[in-house]
Amino acid sequence: MTLKLDKVSRGPHLPTLVASSISREIARGRLKPGDQLPTVQALAETFGVSRNVVREAIARLGSEGLVWSQQGRGAFVSEAPKSTVLKIDHAAPQDGDAFRSLFELRGALEVRAVSLAADRRTAKDFETMRRALATMTASPYGSVAWLDADLDFHRAIAAATRNDYLVQFIGFVAERVRESILAAGDQHPSEDMAQATLSEHGRILAAIEAQDGVEAQWAMQAHLNGAAERVGLPPDDTALPARARATAAPRRPRKAALAERR
Ligand SMILES: [Zn+2]
Repeated sequence: MTLKLDKVSRGPHLPTLVASSISREIARGRLKPGDQLPTVQALAETFGVSRNVVREAIARLGSEGLVWSQQGRGAFVSEAPKSTVLKIDHAAPQDGDAFRSLFELRGALEVRAVSLAADRRTAKDFETMRRALATMTASPYGSVAWLDADLDFHRAIAAATRNDYLVQFIGFVAERVRESILAAGDQHPSEDMAQATLSEHGRILAAIEAQDGVEAQWAMQAHLNGAAERVGLPPDDTALPARARATAAPRRPRKAALAERR
């Protein structure tokens, strides 16, 4: 069994990186159903991480149904990974297509969800969103605390839709985006970026408070475009029809954007 496992670099999300690396080996068939994973000690040495990091990674793969562990024997690749388990690896920003696809998926889900949330939110939902934004405001831009609060904000919007599938999908996709951003490491954060991000969330929050579903959709699309641009992706000009141009930040004429895309 020859595995292509590279040492992972330091970062806040080592277990995620280790789990992704192992799950890629499974996806590529270099680790097959029934195969035993190398020991925790061996994996720790291969990846250059602590055994605790490896244990956490294996626990995570276990919760995804990809591996199972037997006390005293080790971890094994599951025989038949459940097809009901949705699996998206975190994508690195430099992995352009996958990362852009992730943002498009987010837009497809969250722009619709936010209008439902504006319509159905309770006072308690709104309070959860408001608190998440307050935590972001109080945290250093791009820190784990900031990213967690950002995720909480989006989860609270999903919860306010009262649609369990949206809750599951949005939580899942937002978590992948968060991991991608963490894995990408230093994004040259600036005070301007922090302010822009906070005001985008503020606009969404205000629309939800006013229960204005249409404005909420524009605000969410503007936020996702802003987030995409901050990680180096082109904004998605196609998601909503023309009104955006009036309220969103000025951007290139549509023809130019299309020409570039060809
Ligand atoms: Zn956000």
